[in-house]
Amino acid sequence: MTIIKPHSVLDAAKVASCLRETFRTGRTRPSNWRLEQLHAIVKLIEENEDEICRALFADLHKPRHEALTMESLVVTASAKHAIKNLNKWRAPVKKETPYIVWPASAFILPEPLGVAFVIAPWNFPFLLAVDPVIGAIAAGCTVCLKTSEVTPATSELLSTLVPKYLDNDAIKVVEGGVPEVTALLEQKWDKIFYTGNPKVGRIVMGAAAKHLTPVTLELGGKCPVFIDDTVDLQLASRRIMAGKYGSNSGQACISPDYILVEEHLAPKLIKQFRSTLVEFFGEDPRTSKDLSRIVNKNHFQRLSRLLDDPATADRIVHGGERDEDSLYIAPTLIEDPALDSPIMADEIFGPLLPIITVRNVNAAIDLINDKPKALVVHLFSTNKDYVKMFTEETSSGGLVMNDCIMQFIVPELPFGGVGESGTGAYHGKASFDTFSHFKSIFNKSQSGDAPIRYPPFTLWKQAM
Ligand code: NAD
Repeated sequence: MTIIKPHSVLDAAKVASCLRETFRTGRTRPSNWRLEQLHAIVKLIEENEDEICRALFADLHKPRHEALTMESLVVTASAKHAIKNLNKWRAPVKKETPYIVWPASAFILPEPLGVAFVIAPWNFPFLLAVDPVIGAIAAGCTVCLKTSEVTPATSELLSTLVPKYLDNDAIKVVEGGVPEVTALLEQKWDKIFYTGNPKVGRIVMGAAAKHLTPVTLELGGKCPVFIDDTVDLQLASRRIMAGKYGSNSGQACISPDYILVEEHLAPKLIKQFRSTLVEFFGEDPRTSKDLSRIVNKNHFQRLSRLLDDPATADRIVHGGERDEDSLYIAPTLIEDPALDSPIMADEIFGPLLPIITVRNVNAAIDLINDKPKALVVHLFSTNKDYVKMFTEETSSGGLVMNDCIMQFIVPELPFGGVGESGTGAYHGKASFDTFSHFKSIFNKSQSGDAPIRYPPFTLWKQAM
């Protein structure tokens, strides 16, 4: 892999044309090349586990356990899954033909889309950079990976390590920020895969339209949780608090953004949340080794503004402490901030959790449907009617019952959003599919022709 550093002037056209040249040689098409690269990714991770954890700690204060279980081990599992299934995914799929075209054969053959551009975000800067690249390699594409400038340690590590393991002419890492992405977006790609916020998603889609390039947009949004009294509250609380605070301190696209709960259950739920937080992070979470920090001052100040907003500040029922120097914000519960307040407008992406009381389940569903479609809707309930209602009456990238986050590591479930939370999906075979074109192939036999199809259309042909 070639590394292009931001301080050198990026020749975006050259990056794209080198990758296209390599793709045209056909060397990324055979299974052998793809498997070799996928094995190399596994090796890169296994031989550099400590360095990866160190970089994630430097960027996000990410605890080692979280770095392993939510980043590097997930990527390893993803690469191994692709290795195991590659030949099955690549196999042509035979299709039936109508008798009118007999004798003929028809099948669908996946082919690599070509030259892919992957733009990675900062919140899981290793996982969300390498996992899409696995899909691109499995599909037989060449790929340019733009790492996130917001997490420089992981970005630098990737650009140092990957060249030692992967094919330099087929996979290039570009470090840098907006100018680099802008220059690269001007090039013609055969696929753009972007993970990040919807505002930049629109820029990416606009640039892709110029070349009619297909895009996958993995975006975010406000992921709600509805919880009722049919569940084991302690267990539910553990799963929700782990989903929120054990995943990068709420800086995850699928972490719970706000809770919806009926009025009668709210006091008991808040009490349970508080006790789980103490169980997880102690009386003073600042001293816990298991809590990530806010990524940088910009995001710290953005979250601080949400906390200082009068609609929020008066409603804090747990936490609220912060320290700008160490980018620490305590896990914070906020009861019933105004529905039109800033904290309920956009994705929070941090350790603040509004708990909104509602009259009943219908009011909860109305509130969810009043907002743009979420990446995930969560339902904590054993009530079968509620399961049916949430399945049929809400729309989101995914629906998760009685847990948070764990759906991300099920390779058979395509992962992606809908509407404002994204377009397209990946993981497992969906990753292979997203970087492939499914070519319809029709092969007519030389024998057994039907004269009826050819002019002149005489009366006897019309009568048939
Ligand atoms: P970010 O700031 O790292 O941006 C992502 C990428 O976009 C970076 O590579 C950056 O260089 C580039 N970029 C930023 N501004 C740009 C501009 N003006 N023009 C061109 N490129 C630009 O990450 P972020 O957007 O802050 O990430 C957080 C968002 O990502 C949240 O909304 C979160 O929900 C979403 N997210 C979604 C998923 C998912 O899988 N659906 C995963 C993680 C994060």
